[in-house]
Amino acid sequence: MAGPEAEYDVIVVGGGINGLTAACYLQKSGLSVAVFERKLEAGAGCCTEEVLHPGVKVNLCACNMVTLWSPAYADLELEKFGLEMLTSSDWGMFHPFKDRSAVMFNSWDASKQYEHWKSISEPDAETFKTVYNLMAPMMADTLQGSLFSQATQGPDDVTSPDGLAAGLRALIPSIPENAHELNGIEMAEAVYKDEKIQTAVLANCIMAGSHPWDRGMSALMPIIFPVLQSVHSATWTCRGGSHSLVHALASCFAYHGGRLFSGCPVDEMIMEGDEAKGIALSTHAIFPDAEVRARRAVISNLSCHPTFLGLIGEEKLPDWVKKGVHAYKNDETVLFTNYWVLDKPPHWEGYPEEINTAYGFNYGMESVADIRRLAHNLENDELPDPPVISGLSVQGFALADRTQAPEGQYTVMSWANVPYKIPGGPEKWDDIRESYGDKVDALLREYNPGMMDSVVARYCNSPLDYYRKNPSQVMGSSTSGAVSLDWFGTHRPFEGCGAPRTPFGNLYLSNSIWPFGTSSLGAGYVAATIVAEDLKVREDQGWWKAKVMEAGQEVLKQRGIELKFNIA
Ligand SMILES: Cc1cc2nc3c(=O)[nH]c(=O)nc-3n(C[C@H](O)[C@H](O)[C@H](O)COP(=O)(O)OP(=O)(O)OC[C@H]3O[C@@H](n4cnc5c(N)ncnc54)[C@H](O)[C@@H]3O)c2cc1C
Repeated sequence: MAGPEAEYDVIVVGGGINGLTAACYLQKSGLSVAVFERKLEAGAGCCTEEVLHPGVKVNLCACNMVTLWSPAYADLELEKFGLEMLTSSDWGMFHPFKDRSAVMFNSWDASKQYEHWKSISEPDAETFKTVYNLMAPMMADTLQGSLFSQATQGPDDVTSPDGLAAGLRALIPSIPENAHELNGIEMAEAVYKDEKIQTAVLANCIMAGSHPWDRGMSALMPIIFPVLQSVHSATWTCRGGSHSLVHALASCFAYHGGRLFSGCPVDEMIMEGDEAKGIALSTHAIFPDAEVRARRAVISNLSCHPTFLGLIGEEKLPDWVKKGVHAYKNDETVLFTNYWVLDKPPHWEGYPEEINTAYGFNYGMESVADIRRLAHNLENDELPDPPVISGLSVQGFALADRTQAPEGQYTVMSWANVPYKIPGGPEKWDDIRESYGDKVDALLREYNPGMMDSVVARYCNSPLDYYRKNPSQVMGSSTSGAVSLDWFGTHRPFEGCGAPRTPFGNLYLSNSIWPFGTSSLGAGYVAATIVAEDLKVREDQGWWKAKVMEAGQEVLKQRGIELKFNIA
C-alpha cells in the first residue's frame, strides 16, 4: 500500500460515515482528499461485526438507518456502490404494553396510522390527522432547514412564542398558550388524551435523541415526530448490515480518486498560528509519525473534546473556546445494548398481528410515570431498575434481510437508556455488564416470554465498551455529545463556534455540530456544503442537486408505494 502523499487539498480526520460523506462530496467536486481512520475498518459509529457466531451480523451502532432522507443517497449514487435499503413492514415502530395492547406507528401509510389511533383514542387520531395534513407537505423543507443546512438558530429562537408552537396552536387548541414554557412531557400530556399514546410518542422522541424533559424544540417533538414517522420511515436496515453504508461511501470515495488510510490514528493537528495546516499520525499508525499537509482545509470527524482538547491541545485554545469546549456535555443519550440470536422468528403472542413483522419497538414504559422515572434516573446518574428501553429495539434486521443471520436464526436488539457515570465509576460497567443484561432479559420476558425462550445466544455492550471502541464517542454518547437545549442549533458544540466552521482557519467539523451525526449523513453533508462554499468549488457541480427525502420516495415508488401527504 502506497503511503500518503505529502499534501492534499483536504484532509479528513476520522472515517466515520459523516467524514466519508464530506470527503466524497469534496473529492467529487474536484479536490484531492485523504481520510485518516484510526481503526482498520472505517465507520466506527456504523459498524456491523460478527461478535457472536459466524453469520450473525451484529449492528452495534446505527440501526435505524435514515439514509433515505439524505440528498447524499442520490448525489453520491450510493446504490451504484452497493447500498440497498430494506425494511420488514410498513409498521415501522410499536410500543407494547403488558396488557398485550400496542401503540403502532406506520412508516408510510398515514391513513392506516390514523385508523389505528382512532381505535385507541378518537381525539388523538384527529390531532394526528390535523398535524399530519399541515406538516407532511412541508416535511422535506423542514428537514432541509433543520438537518441538511447549517444551523441558523440557537435555543432562544426555537422557544420563541412566535415560532412553530404558535402556528400549531392555531390548529390545535389543546396546545397551551405558554407552549414555549412547557417541556415535552407536559406538551404530550396537554395534546394527547390517551396515556398509552402519550407514553409511546414520548418514548419515540427519546429514541430520536430528543429529551422530552427539555423545553424548546423538545417540547414540540411529541407533536411533530409522529408525522415524521409516517411521512418517511426511519426504520430501514442495509443489506448485509449497517456497515454496508460505510462500504458504499468508501467505494464512492475511492471511485472518484480519494484515498482512505485505515489503521492511521491521528495524534495531532499541525497548527501555524491559528490555522490548521495538516495532521501528524500516531507512532502506532500503519505509517508511523507521518506528517501530512492540507493545502486548503482539515475536517475533523472527531467529536468536540477529541478535536479541540486532543488534536489541537488545550494550551492552543483561546479562553472563550476553552470555556465552551469544557462546558460541552458528553454523557447524553448513552445506551446499553442487548443483542440476542433467536432460533424462531419474533412472535408476539396475544398482541395485534401487525407487530410480528414491524421493524422496531420501545418497551418498559407502561405510563408517563416511567418516562419521568427515566428522566430522574439519568439526571442523578442512577441505573434505571427495571431498565427502560427507549433507545430503540429492532427485530426487523433478519426479517428484512436474510443475510443478517444464519438460516433459521433471527436477531433482536434492545438499547436501554442509562447514565455513563454509574455508582462506583464508569469502570464498574465491566462488573455489571452481564447482570444488567439479565435485567433487560427479564424485562423483555414480561412482554414476550416466547421470544426469550427462543434465545440461543446473547451479546451485551456497555457504554464503556462503546467508548473503548471509538474514542470519539466520548462516554459512549450515541449522539457524540449533548443535543439538549444548551447545545441546540448554533450552540453546538459551543456558542460562537460557527460550526461546521471553527474559530481556527482552515479547520472544519463534521461531528458534534448541528445536526448531530446520524445515518442521514446530515452532519457530513452540511460540512461538505460549507467547505465547498468557502473553497469556491460548489459552482458547476451539476450532480450536487438531490432534494431531501427524494430518495426515500423513489425507493418506495420502485416497490409500488406512493407516499400520500394528506389524510382524507
Ligand atoms: C449505540 C449507538 C446507536 C446509534 N443508533 C443510531 C441509529 O439507530 N440511527 C442513526 O442514524 N444513528 C445512530 N447512531 C449514531 C451513529 O453513530 C451515527 O449515525 C454515525 O455512525 C456517526 O458517524 P460520524 O461519522 O459522525 O462519527 P463516527 O462514526 O464516530 O466517526 C468517527 C471516526 O473517527 C475514528 N477515529 C477516532 N479517533 C480517531 C483518531 N484519533 N484518528 C483517526 N480516526 C479516529 C473512529 O474510529 C470513527 O470511525 C448511534 C450511535 C451509537 C453509538
